[in-house]
Amino acid sequence: MEALSYDSEDYYEILGVPRNATKEEIKRAYRRLALKYHPDRNKSPEAEEKFKKISEAYAVLSDDEKRRLYDMYGKAGLQGQYSQEDIFRTTRFDFEEILRDLGFGDFESFFERFFGGFGRTRREPTATLVEVEVSLEEAFHGCEKTIHIPMRVPCHRCGGSGAEPGWVEKCPTCGGSGQRVSHRQVAFAYFTTVTPCENCKGAGQVIRKKCSNCRGSGVLEIIERVTFTIPRGVDEGHIITLRSRGMLDPSTGVRGDLRIRVRMMPHKVFRRDGDKLIVELPVSPSEVATGRVVKLKTLDGVVDVKLSPNNYHKPIIIRGRGMPRIDGGRGDLEVRPRIQLPTPLSQEQKEFYEQLSSVEYGLMDELRDRIFSN
Ligand SMILES: [Zn+2]
Ligand SMILES: [Zn+2]
Repeated sequence: MEALSYDSEDYYEILGVPRNATKEEIKRAYRRLALKYHPDRNKSPEAEEKFKKISEAYAVLSDDEKRRLYDMYGKAGLQGQYSQEDIFRTTRFDFEEILRDLGFGDFESFFERFFGGFGRTRREPTATLVEVEVSLEEAFHGCEKTIHIPMRVPCHRCGGSGAEPGWVEKCPTCGGSGQRVSHRQVAFAYFTTVTPCENCKGAGQVIRKKCSNCRGSGVLEIIERVTFTIPRGVDEGHIITLRSRGMLDPSTGVRGDLRIRVRMMPHKVFRRDGDKLIVELPVSPSEVATGRVVKLKTLDGVVDVKLSPNNYHKPIIIRGRGMPRIDGGRGDLEVRPRIQLPTPLSQEQKEFYEQLSSVEYGLMDELRDRIFSN
């Protein structure tokens, strides 16, 4: 059974709809894109791939249960629960209606043509996708992370064969060839037919005793501990691929890749925009008026921020103090001064502020006069 397409692209992004889109909006988006990319209408070489992607996205998002799983766990939530065939089967009536409406034939031929029909297997191990939450500090410094994920892996005792070591022998029925050859004579003609051996199902060997570790299934369901490195500068949607650490693909007997998708957690003071770090800095009116240098604690030490009375409402850019980039460079830090009043004040400080206020009042009164007197 063919697996879902595991790329970093998000189903919502593929259809160009917001995450809270209604079923109607999703349907409209699919119809519009299907008209644009159906290979019968669009002869560009990417059209078919694009059409398959939007169809898969629609199949998932148009079904409440699949959409819920996808929202919670990403594609990993669907993997293991549904094959691609299942994904499309439950929504086939919907597809049928849309495709017929658009004049693209019936569902059977749609699936046969673009997804190779039902029940075929693809000799390629499928990838397993999981999501990992990464804090801003972790993305800033890089780190090692360990996650525990349920996995189907080949049994280590029998190597996935299901046989107790030493208890496999050549199939006595077919002598190890795995085939049954029968001859038939009809009139003067000989017919030779070759079919898989019934005793060993074509394997050429039989298991005399089942593996005691996996009870003959060849597969173990385990919770696997996976440790990997989060490189400095990772961002939302980045994918870390660990070769051959994914689920066992029963059709090939080998493990696919494990793909770990980064989900960035919000930070309480810093906001990130690519390699730029944005922060609001509380400053008092007098700090601004006197052009003070204030200290700002960042993710890697302290920076001096020089306030200016002339443009305090503009962001102050501090070059090279933002997020590191995967390529080794570093973005900028954008400091946005925000006027805030110092609280709480002691009795003494309050009196001082009253004196200050009377000086300020005189100055501000003149300023206001100039503004409002035209
Ligand atoms: Zn046999
Ligand atoms: Zn075993």
